Amino acid sequence: MADQEYTRPIPVADEASQEFFDGANEEKLMLQKCSQCGTHRLPGRERCLDCWSTESEWAQASGKGKLYTYGIMHQKYHPAFADVTPYNYAIVELDEGPRIVTNIVNCDPEDLKTDMPVEAVFDHVSDGATLIRFRPA
Ligand SMILES: [Zn+2]
Repeated sequence: MADQEYTRPIPVADEASQEFFDGANEEKLMLQKCSQCGTHRLPGRERCLDCWSTESEWAQASGKGKLYTYGIMHQKYHPAFADVTPYNYAIVELDEGPRIVTNIVNCDPEDLKTDMPVEAVFDHVSDGATLIRFRPA
């Protein structure tokens, strides 16, 4: 994908997601982790939803998880997606707990199955922008 210009929208990091996107550029899946109870969270937010602590750190996740659910997008809502439609969108439940919205790559649509094990791949779509997708593990 790196040999042609990426023309689809690219996420813009904000204060709560900068570490996540910086990590992706370094091929690391970073999650915010509660310093009190150890619960991981994504997206980043000020308080832990389990213990309400505001103390947190960023920790590298394993990049492993399972396909929680998925769909196949047939509608062309944005012209930049015309050449890749139909495509899948997926929610992966990470081994650390949080769920991430992503795409599954290297997998035919008919082979997608909920609960299938998947692992992160880092798609460097442009300078300074890396999208985290998943492939069958
Ligand atoms: Zn906590």
